[in-house]
Amino acid sequence: MTLLTQDSHPAKTDYDAVVVGAGFGGLYMLHKLRNELGMNVRVFDKAGDVGGTWYWNRYPGALSDTESFVYCYSFDKALLQEWDWDTRYVTQPQILSYLNHVADRLDLRCDIEFNTGVTGARFDEKRNLWEIQTDTDKTVTARYLITALGLLSATNVPNIKGIESFQGKQYHTGAWPEGVDFKGKRVGVIGTGSTGLQVITAIAPQASHLTVFQRSPQYSVPVGNGPVSPDYVTSVKQNYDQIWKDVRSSVVAFGFKESSVPAMSVSEEERRAVYQKAWERGGGFRFMFETFCDIATDEVANETAAAFIRGKIAEIVKDPETARKLTPTDLYAKRPLCDSGYYAIYNRDNVALVDVKATPITEITPKGIKTSDGVEHELDVLIFATGFDAVDGNYTRIDLRGRNGKTIKDKWKGGPTSYLGVASADYPNLFMILGPNGPFTNLPPSIETQVEWISDLIKHMNDTGRQVVEASHEGEDGWTATCNEIAGYTLFPKADSWIFGANIPGKAKTVMFYLAGLGAYTQKLNEVTSTGYPGFEIR
Ligand code: FAD
Ligand code: NAP
Repeated sequence: MTLLTQDSHPAKTDYDAVVVGAGFGGLYMLHKLRNELGMNVRVFDKAGDVGGTWYWNRYPGALSDTESFVYCYSFDKALLQEWDWDTRYVTQPQILSYLNHVADRLDLRCDIEFNTGVTGARFDEKRNLWEIQTDTDKTVTARYLITALGLLSATNVPNIKGIESFQGKQYHTGAWPEGVDFKGKRVGVIGTGSTGLQVITAIAPQASHLTVFQRSPQYSVPVGNGPVSPDYVTSVKQNYDQIWKDVRSSVVAFGFKESSVPAMSVSEEERRAVYQKAWERGGGFRFMFETFCDIATDEVANETAAAFIRGKIAEIVKDPETARKLTPTDLYAKRPLCDSGYYAIYNRDNVALVDVKATPITEITPKGIKTSDGVEHELDVLIFATGFDAVDGNYTRIDLRGRNGKTIKDKWKGGPTSYLGVASADYPNLFMILGPNGPFTNLPPSIETQVEWISDLIKHMNDTGRQVVEASHEGEDGWTATCNEIAGYTLFPKADSWIFGANIPGKAKTVMFYLAGLGAYTQKLNEVTSTGYPGFEIR
């Protein structure tokens, strides 16, 4: 396409837009820009195929914890009617197959270059275009750069002494190869977050011995997976219009009505009954948000939920010492977890739990893991379920330069910020999908909301012949303050987790999400559109 430079000379670009990432976000962005706006778009992904999270995380037990009926796109009504599922949650292979189907159905693959990492991108202020470099030695230009890099995608492998010396096999769950076999193997897992819980539960029956290296014990509730009836699926499909309307105006967008009842407004007996019902039904977000309205905001309410889960651990785990190690004592205020029988796994003879807060890992040896009590835990396979450099991790790995050559890594030294979760001051014509300070929800509906909003803004630019759109510093500062203020009303900042960057040594601990929910977020985006894009400079 042809662009006008600042002095009105046309500057040609290779593409109207370059999108980085081919997960839920990048695929939908390509569809909107190419199929609906008629733009010339190129997508790059370092993965070998589509899927993003679900391409990389092929570890045993990988399962959504969003229910199947809302862990999908909503934009294509025919697809919603055609696509079938028969369990309450979808497994990694099912989600990957779904995203492959979407890519084929919308004919997206022809504009995606796989096995191609974007290593650098620079905004050329004279020509008002992005120059993008890849690890295949390509440089291309585009008017818009849209990053769908994933917020849980840059793997975190802890820097443990001796890691290179290990003679067995080692894997990070977020870069899992095909065909790993655990039969007859002594396996070690470091990490007990959502991923650790899933992989531990799935591997324990396969491995000859499993040692879990736990730093922090976790509150988890049953996921409650199982078959759903064809009648249930039919009724969901008949009601999808209303379901998506409700999801998009809700807080966490998980497909249920959030409670409006404070925990302490009912008797202790009633409260226990509510928790017991939620425990039997399953679902981490349901347990935290469908039972009572103030578990994530009020310490007294929070303690009632935490105490209930602690009681369940004591009931399930037979060995009192193991139960003690597995029992958290802090707030129930990380991303809520759910599992398929996690605590009961520790009743197996072939599973051992090592508390690495009490006896820290001192080194990885050729044979296994050594802890501070001098024990060498011998292993054939070592699994890192140690999570991600979340939200900004993939941004700071790119040499991403905006005005005056300033890198995003530099800009975000004190913590990543944005305007509305989608734009960044000094980075013109850059849009982020799931950028910092976007909504903390079931993610496909939030991704769709952002993609649609970005696409509308680009259409507005095209329709009005504008060349450059850029978040203002005031807009970004205001949004950052809003996100900080909202986070302060919740208990989440009081628990150390990836949600605030606390899991990465040396990373600034800051607010990285808009915690007021998808409904409020969507209202804000609509208000910005209808009032002429305040907080943006458009030229
Ligand atoms: P991703 O799917 O992460 O895709 C990003 C893509 O960008 C990747 O393919 C990556 O290779 C590519 N990329 C990154 N940097 C570069 C670069 N420099 N050059 C080229 N390509 C690059 N969310 C939920 O709402 N519910 C769930 O149940 C749920 N379960 C999850 C389970 C796991 C194991 C994990 C890790 C996450 C889960 N999530 C869940 C979050 C999940 O990441 C999102 O739901 C969603 O898949 C994100 O889609 P995305 O397109 O934004 O990013
Ligand atoms: P995570 O929640 O960050 O958990 C990482 C785990 O590794 C934690 O237990 C952490 O301990 C531990 N760890 C990290 N570094 C360590 C070290 N040096 N030594 C010992 N232990 C260390 O990561 P995750 O489990 O991959 O989950 C991230 C997010 O992905 C989830 O919150 C969720 O949003 C998504 N996810 C969802 C599902 C699902 O159910 N659908 C499944 C997987 C992932 P500390 O707690 O002490 O830091």
